[in-house]
Amino acid sequence: MDCWREAEGKRVHDPFYYCYSRGDSSCKAAKTAATAAAGEGEMFVRVEGPLIVGAGPSGLAVAACLKEKGVPSVVLERSDCIASLWQHKTYDRLRLHLPKQFCELPHMPFPPSFPTYPTKQQFLAYLEAYVRHFDINPVFNQAVDSAEYDHKLGLWRVRTTAQKGVQGKEKEAAPVEYVCRWLVVATGENAEIVIPDIEGMEEFNGPVVHTSAYRRGDAFRGKKVLVVGCGNSGMEICLDLCNYDAHPTLVVRDAVHVLPREMLGSSTFGLSMWLMKWLPVRTADRLLLLLSRLTLGDTARFGLERPQLGPLELKVLSGKTPVLDVGTLAKIKSGDVKVRPAIKRLIGHGAQFINERTENFDAIVLATGYKSNVPSWLKDGEHFSEKTGMPRRPFPYGWKGEHGLYAVGFTQRGILGASMDAKRIAHDIEQHWNARDHVKQPAIFSRLPAMP
Ligand SMILES: Cc1cc2nc3c(=O)[nH]c(=O)nc-3n(C[C@H](O)[C@H](O)[C@H](O)COP(=O)(O)OP(=O)(O)OC[C@H]3O[C@@H](n4cnc5c(N)ncnc54)[C@H](O)[C@@H]3O)c2cc1C
Repeated sequence: MDCWREAEGKRVHDPFYYCYSRGDSSCKAAKTAATAAAGEGEMFVRVEGPLIVGAGPSGLAVAACLKEKGVPSVVLERSDCIASLWQHKTYDRLRLHLPKQFCELPHMPFPPSFPTYPTKQQFLAYLEAYVRHFDINPVFNQAVDSAEYDHKLGLWRVRTTAQKGVQGKEKEAAPVEYVCRWLVVATGENAEIVIPDIEGMEEFNGPVVHTSAYRRGDAFRGKKVLVVGCGNSGMEICLDLCNYDAHPTLVVRDAVHVLPREMLGSSTFGLSMWLMKWLPVRTADRLLLLLSRLTLGDTARFGLERPQLGPLELKVLSGKTPVLDVGTLAKIKSGDVKVRPAIKRLIGHGAQFINERTENFDAIVLATGYKSNVPSWLKDGEHFSEKTGMPRRPFPYGWKGEHGLYAVGFTQRGILGASMDAKRIAHDIEQHWNARDHVKQPAIFSRLPAMP
């Protein structure tokens, strides 16, 4: 409890305490205080409702569902905007991979005028409209660097490092400690980029960029580009490079399921969901693979071997998502995109592959994905796996942990999975929120400055 005494001692110097003591406990005032923290010592603030970490689609969905139930929440975001993954880390030609009806957030459909696969700009416009509609006001430039449940107090203590400035130019500032009863982890499956350890990487002479820094192919015009990784992003970036007259080579290390984005006039995703409803997963897989073969041909002939398990069974068992082809396969067939096996090592002007073949390249794009950052800041050890940063319990049970801890958007089922989590979490918190007056709280909690 020493820290609480320390907190008490600091109150006289504390801008939060100052704003609280004036009776001004609005979210806006707390935001102002968070900004003020940049120049002051550490500060403490009480969050009356749930604290949501991350203002991506998942965090926004939970905030909106809570709002619908009359439960106020606070959203903290490390970046300077909502949906920072979509705003700052995606390529220009990106569209939703799945039809819009599978990517809606709760309580607000996409406008009917939007196409089946909205562009990234349309998706962002939808999210902006969403936060306006539900009056969600995240506190930006607040990176959570630790969160721990205090068993003595029965409360979560969440520490942030306030940041100033635009992405990439952040300046570290004084930390703020938020104290709350419910903590919602919404930092996403894609919080940090994954850079593989490839032998000889430092020897390669040309630029090496992760897909998070790739916008469009104009900088690669006329160049030989090695694209490492054949998920949806790697495949689509190859197509983009072709459109900018670059010469991409795709590294395909493992077996992969490539399916057409549409089959029999409907989306492959929608068709898969429908088949899964009525048929055993293996039968559904056989049908999907048959239809795929009729549309795309034998992908193994072009260097894209299929895994032993079918696409749906593989998804259920390992979370690995099939690639939905948007035109890259035709470029592979025509030879505009070359396919190579795993890299053995990189050399000054190129790469040597495991089949001993060596080729020259001007640049490398790493389409090697992302990972969760939860283990780096959540001192929990129970609910989230230290290794993967994902909930230990499989879908659909991973949304709820112990002591008021929740996880949204860790289902490997995109925005559809996040929306399902968000509704469950809001419903659960609502019960506790309505019963909160009967729960005894430590005196210090009610004495801390409050938000919202
Ligand atoms: C290229 C690409 C295309 C995709 N296309 C689709 C699609 O078509 N359909 C679909 O359903 N899904 C798609 N996805 C998956 C997509 O990531 C998710 O569906 C969606 O963005 C997940 O939202 P989220 O809020 O869970 O995570 P994110 O969008 O990653 O948001 C998490 C937020 O948390 C913030 N954050 C992280 N750590 C901290 C911290 N310590 N403190 C404070 N804030 C923090 C981040 O800055 C970020 O803003 C795609 C993903 C990628 C990369």
